[in-house]
Amino acid sequence: MAKLKWLKADLHVHTVLSPCAELEMGPKGLVKAALERGLGLLGITDHNAWANVPAVVELAQQYDIGVLPGMEVQTREEVHVLCFFPDTKRLVTAGQQIYAHLPDVCNRADIFGDQIIVDAKENIIAFEDRMLLNSVDLSLEQVRDITWENHGIIIPAHVDRPAFSLIANLGFVPPDLKPTALEISTQVDKETAMERFPQLKGYTLVTSSDAHRLDDFETTRSTYFYVAAPTLAEIVLACKGLNNRKVVIASEGTVF
Ligand SMILES: [Zn+2]
Ligand SMILES: [Zn+2]
Repeated sequence: MAKLKWLKADLHVHTVLSPCAELEMGPKGLVKAALERGLGLLGITDHNAWANVPAVVELAQQYDIGVLPGMEVQTREEVHVLCFFPDTKRLVTAGQQIYAHLPDVCNRADIFGDQIIVDAKENIIAFEDRMLLNSVDLSLEQVRDITWENHGIIIPAHVDRPAFSLIANLGFVPPDLKPTALEISTQVDKETAMERFPQLKGYTLVTSSDAHRLDDFETTRSTYFYVAAPTLAEIVLACKGLNNRKVVIASEGTVF
C-alpha cells in the first residue's frame, strides 16, 4: 500500500509571466520561497497563460518540490478559475485552446508590467505580447469542459473576494459545475468563510497565497494534503476524501 504523508501546498502562485507579478517571481525565487516555507507542492497559475510552467517544473524537481501545471483563467463572467492538469503536455493542449479565446490586445508593459517567459536559469526567452489580464470569450462551463477534456480539474479561485470570484460574480456555485474544490483567500479562515458564504457548504475548501511577490508566501494558514505523492491524481483523491487521502486548512506551525 502506498505510504501517505502530509504535504504542505500552495496551489495558486504567479510567475513573471503575469504582468501584475514582481520580477522576483522567477523559478529560482519560487523554489527558494517553497524551500523556506516547507512547501512540497506548488500550483503555477499565471493569468490565461502557462509558458513558465516548464521552467518551474525543471528547477523544482531538482529540489523534490512537486508542481501542478496550471493556469488561472478569467472567464467571460469575469470569474477567476484555477485549471490544473496532470502534466505539462495536457496543460499546453488546453492552454492553447483557451488562449485562442483571449482578445488580441497588445500588452502595455509601461502600464501593466512586462509578461516575461523564462527558462529554469531565469534567462529571458521571450516576452508575451498579448495582454493577459482580460477575460477569455468562454463561459465558466466551457473552460471547465476544455479542462476536463484534457484530464484536468477546476478550482474556482478566491471565492470570498469581492471581485473576479464565483460568489461575487454569480452569487452561487452552479449545481452542475462540479469543481474539485473551492479556493478561499488567505484573508479568511474556513469557519468565517462558511459563515459568510453558506453556498460553500458541501464543497472541499483549499486556501492559497495567490502570490504575486515573494512576501505573499508568508501566510498564516496553508493547505495540507495527506497523500502518497505530489501529483494531480493524489490531490483529486484527497479533495474527494478517498483511499484515506485528505485535505485540511491549518495554521502555520501545526504539527501533524
Ligand atoms: Zn485571481
Ligand atoms: Zn491569481
